[in-house]
Amino acid sequence: REVVLGIDIGGTNTKFGFVDREGNLLGDYSISTAVHQTIESYLHSLADNVQKGLSNLEEDVRLIGVGIGAPNGNYYRGTIEHAPNLNWKGVVNFIELLKEYYSLPMAITNDASAAAIGEMIFGGAKSMKDFIVVTLGTGLGSGFVANGKLIYGHDGFAGELGHVTVRPNGRFCGCGRRGCLETYVSATGIKRTIYKLLADYNGGGSELASVSFNDLTAEMITNAAKDGDKVAMEAFEYTGRILGMQLADSVALNSPEAIFLLGGLAKAADFIFEPTQRHMEEHMMPIFKNKVKLLPSGLQNKNAAVLGAAALIWHELDSQK
Ligand code: BGC
Ligand code: ZN
Repeated sequence: REVVLGIDIGGTNTKFGFVDREGNLLGDYSISTAVHQTIESYLHSLADNVQKGLSNLEEDVRLIGVGIGAPNGNYYRGTIEHAPNLNWKGVVNFIELLKEYYSLPMAITNDASAAAIGEMIFGGAKSMKDFIVVTLGTGLGSGFVANGKLIYGHDGFAGELGHVTVRPNGRFCGCGRRGCLETYVSATGIKRTIYKLLADYNGGGSELASVSFNDLTAEMITNAAKDGDKVAMEAFEYTGRILGMQLADSVALNSPEAIFLLGGLAKAADFIFEPTQRHMEEHMMPIFKNKVKLLPSGLQNKNAAVLGAAALIWHELDSQK
């Protein structure tokens, strides 16, 4: 049995697993990305943990390739370039560096694009030709599929929806600019909103008032909203409004059949889906109203980017035949 190592690099954690041609996930692992200040120490830890994962597999399983999804990952050049939420600045020749560890076919692409491939081949977009995937994690990523093809763009960086300006002179962004969508709409963005609201309302009687920024998680905000916490509920409404308006604009550009919301913040389910959908419908041109589905991942607990990153290799191997 042959498997491809699929890796999803996030600003906070890296997920990986071994994926067969049918999209079965053998092993599901996570390591910290953020603790590694240098790419060298990160790759060392990654390869180490992959080795451990491999040793858990049955003996007849053979690793035949490595596919990676990463913030600002470039499929054409095998690089990660100036990623806003990673510690490794500048241009990282990722595939080149990984050759020290593996002599196998390898490919890298943007993490959200990998998630879009995962949904397209194995998940909820199997029958769709036009759709958008938005990932809400440390940052906000997006993958656009049009006419059944993932859009890479001329230089390979198409779909940087996280860095469209939604507030002139707004919050500082890791990309060096201000007011980018991801500074409001992402797991980090909603945390920033919580802190803003807590300051505005002087705590507002919120159960989140005593939590430090580093300890606060999207899950805690969701739990607070479930308890009826006013600050948490207002933060979801605010986040959903900005996202919904932006998605209405994205619909105008691409006329998609559906938009998938993935990532840590999407786990808040209705707390984020409901206000996003409401504001999206409200801001859409009449020709698009009530036609575009807003959906969760079709892959349940499996990571769409891990599967899609692996599919990158399966696909390349197929096209060489
Ligand atoms: C990066 C994207 C990435 C997203 C999610 C953004 O800051 O610019 O390339 O897809 O974060 O990781
Ligand atoms: Zn930005």
